[in-house]
Amino acid sequence: MTDRDYSTIWIEELDPPFVRIVSTSYPWQNAHRIAQRANTLARNYSRGWHCVHCGDLMPVWKRIDAKYCKEGCRKMAARKRRA
Ligand SMILES: [Zn+2]
Repeated sequence: MTDRDYSTIWIEELDPPFVRIVSTSYPWQNAHRIAQRANTLARNYSRGWHCVHCGDLMPVWKRIDAKYCKEGCRKMAARKRRA
């Protein structure tokens, strides 16, 4: 599973914390793999998939197991842990 699948899946933000997952697949892509990622994303978002540092909704192209929305948040959190 890579971040490169993102062009086929996107998230529509409804009333927080609800989001709609939209996915499209093309014959030249592995539809099963994409559907799997969409399902995992849906599970993440239904639990409230937010950056653990700033609390923003996670971008859809992030890795399924990502905890921070951006590199800056990851660094800030690491700095806070050390302090
Ligand atoms: Zn963040």
